[in-house]
Amino acid sequence: MKKLLVHFDTDAKQSVFDQITAYDAGVDHILSYGAVAVPDVRNLVYGAIFTRGGEALKNTTIFIGGSDVAKSEEVLKETTATFFGPCRVSVMLDPNGCNTTAAAAVRKIAVREEIRGKRAVVLAGTGPVGMRVAVLLALEGCQVVLTSRSEEKARLIAGRIMEQFDLTVHPVQVAGKAELDRVLTGVEIVVAAGGPGVNLLPAETWERHPTLETIADVNAVAPLGVEGIKATDDGVVRHGKVIYGYGALAIGNFKMKVHRKSVRRLFERNDLVLDTAAIYEIARALGGQE
Ligand code: NAP
Repeated sequence: MKKLLVHFDTDAKQSVFDQITAYDAGVDHILSYGAVAVPDVRNLVYGAIFTRGGEALKNTTIFIGGSDVAKSEEVLKETTATFFGPCRVSVMLDPNGCNTTAAAAVRKIAVREEIRGKRAVVLAGTGPVGMRVAVLLALEGCQVVLTSRSEEKARLIAGRIMEQFDLTVHPVQVAGKAELDRVLTGVEIVVAAGGPGVNLLPAETWERHPTLETIADVNAVAPLGVEGIKATDDGVVRHGKVIYGYGALAIGNFKMKVHRKSVRRLFERNDLVLDTAAIYEIARALGGQE
């Protein structure tokens, strides 16, 4: 029986990236729908759950993507609310790659050493990737600070993390050099999660902080998020100090493995919901050192 992936994209033009990655994960055929909104979901899901019964249902899966994470989350909620009894298929949520990227970044850091109890800062943690990096670091037992240029925005996202994940992260405004220095004081782990081409951390700043052990940057577009950490760095010791750097391409390579493995996992049964924590478990099983 053919492995079918039903692709709900909340954007009008469905993601080429998500479709190619699904094929590379072994999907036979993709049924892709763009501009999917909550009112569309019920009928689309009925098509997925009423066509193949019993064991065969695991050969149909749903992938939800899009650039607006909140919209994609609403679509996920409506999708799972449409399922009933055994009439369900496995679903994965990864709008803009936020779950797979965050899982890859945190796993890269956590695979090298125990990070429970460490102090971590997610710079510009208000985007979809940064918010989930903060969630996963908190799940790993770190004390997490999430920064934004706006205190209000930082508080909003920290509040959302508490509401959605029942985890505490501390919101801090970082809008200039003095605030950046203050937030890095006594910290061991920094993840830069800013938008593409946004440098958040100059080398001369992180080089001055003696407690720093690990720096990761998910931004692959120059200028990179952290000066002095190359995009290809994969646990490279930088600046003659014991600081392990992880760049966006090293994280991205692992992210691709996590993404493909997650899609493959969808076809193992018909009742999985792969969101932030479940995708992180898949990343954990993969390792992260490669
Ligand atoms: P995003 O929403 O575009 O941006 C994250 C945060 O960056 C924003 O909330 C904003 O924070 C801050 N920011 C934006 N423009 C800024 C500016 N000019 N100056 C200072 N701060 C600025 O990012 P995302 O979608 O979460 O993605 C995060 C990063 O991951 C991006 O660089 C993306 O390209 C990258 N990414 C990498 C991979 C990979 O495989 N390596 C995969 C997916 C995404 P405040 O407004 O709160 O300050």
